[in-house]
Amino acid sequence: MTSGPPCAGVGHTRRVAWNVVIAGGGFAGAHVAHKLEGMLPKQSARLALVNDVNFVLYTPFLPEAAAGLLEPRHVVTPLREILDRTYLRLGAVTAHDPVARTLELRSHQGDTEELRYDQFVIAVGSVSRTLPVPGLDEHAIGFKSLADAIWLRNHVVETLEEANATEDPTRRERLLTYVFVGGGYAGLEALAELQDFAADAMDSYPRARLHGMRWILVEATQRVLPEIDASLADYAVRELRGRGIEVRLGTTIDAVSATDATLSTGETVPTRTVVWTAGVRPQPSLRHLSVPLDERGRVRVDDHLRVEGMDGVWALGDCAAVPDPRGGLAPPTAQHGIRQARVVAHNVSCALSGGATPRRYEYSSKTAFVNLGRYKAVGRIGARNFSGFVAWWMARTYHLSQIPGLSRKIRAVIDWTISLPFQRDLSEVGSIGHPRPLRDEEYESGGSHRPLPAPGETDDEAEEFEARG
Ligand SMILES: Cc1cc2nc3c(=O)[nH]c(=O)nc-3n(C[C@H](O)[C@H](O)[C@H](O)COP(=O)(O)OP(=O)(O)OC[C@H]3O[C@@H](n4cnc5c(N)ncnc54)[C@H](O)[C@@H]3O)c2cc1C
Repeated sequence: MTSGPPCAGVGHTRRVAWNVVIAGGGFAGAHVAHKLEGMLPKQSARLALVNDVNFVLYTPFLPEAAAGLLEPRHVVTPLREILDRTYLRLGAVTAHDPVARTLELRSHQGDTEELRYDQFVIAVGSVSRTLPVPGLDEHAIGFKSLADAIWLRNHVVETLEEANATEDPTRRERLLTYVFVGGGYAGLEALAELQDFAADAMDSYPRARLHGMRWILVEATQRVLPEIDASLADYAVRELRGRGIEVRLGTTIDAVSATDATLSTGETVPTRTVVWTAGVRPQPSLRHLSVPLDERGRVRVDDHLRVEGMDGVWALGDCAAVPDPRGGLAPPTAQHGIRQARVVAHNVSCALSGGATPRRYEYSSKTAFVNLGRYKAVGRIGARNFSGFVAWWMARTYHLSQIPGLSRKIRAVIDWTISLPFQRDLSEVGSIGHPRPLRDEEYESGGSHRPLPAPGETDDEAEEFEARG
């Protein structure tokens, strides 16, 4: 839908190309760049996208990557595969001068560079939202990045290995208890897929299987999945409870330690695994970008996604407080981020070229799916609700159509097909990405893939020592 007077753009005929800089290469930022490539003639604009990694993570597949159903590399798409002429810069935008219209780009090596812009698009996303719960930052893990998913899978395998080996029943209980906090779609899907993985893997751990596992979902409100219909949320809870998962509604977590989680009911749950999936908050680096923020740290934008009180600066996706025409704000989902990207690309192009009419953001999400593992899901398309196998099949088909890049779609299908006849892969490959230095003493205590720490030291201390050099 269009609105407002035509843009007072300056035309594509300017001698010097316009500089458009996009901060953030997630769903929102990558889509803005992709759309602008098609809208702005080559000579008229230089597009630059700044992101900390050179890929987009397809987060809806993160739980399946954690459960080993999809190869971690197959749930990301290289930005260079979807962008043609956008100049990709690795690093982060760390400062913004709106008067001089410049940005500071900092690389992973600590080098800084000044970037000039005519149009600046902010799409830096969000991070896990934490609360001041004692021990949370030290002993819990979020579920937001590929690193979180890979770590969690390796961690679950390690707990199964240890639980199978130990003679101590208290220790085994602790190792085989997994607590997830937050009943939104991310938490529920992660828990369902990992529990499914661990239940299958149990065949290889007879002593652990004899003891049994405990999976607990802790949710502060009286229902899970606020994003979908209450009847579907109830279906999801029944399905999880049917698998023996404890769903604790109206319960919060009061403290986390290396050995326990304390619930608001007063119960102390012995556990080595607390996964925190209780929502997101805007990227903290927004504080340095000299843009107006709301009380929750989101960039304030108008209904055209223009940053309030600023010319040529736009924000969208998880990091922005985007007004929903039906009231309130648009939720932080990829679906909204992608739709907002189309509007921002159009409005940026319009601001540079003039002529066209800027667009207002109006989209109401009509599709939502939540995967429950074991070939089951719940979902909604328009006014229709679906559950069970049909919903699972629709969810897979939908996500397959959404993951960017043809090669990623094919790889996902191959991964799923291969996982059907074979047992779950139980290799614990946490050492990937952590090469050891070329020093004999590193290997003194034995082991060459994941050398053991020196006597009296734990793995964590050894890693800290390494990090200090
Ligand atoms: C497990 C999980 C499952 C999900 N499933 C769904 C689903 O099924 N459907 C759905 O609609 N949504 C889903 N979501 C939500 C969806 O992933 C987010 O809404 C979406 O990723 C937001 O897109 P974004 O581009 O705003 O932010 P992001 O995707 O977070 O991208 C932001 C990018 O900016 C980078 N960045 C950060 N700071 C800077 C800086 N200063 N300078 C430059 N770059 C920076 C980040 O590293 C990141 O690459 C899920 C989320 C999770 C965690």
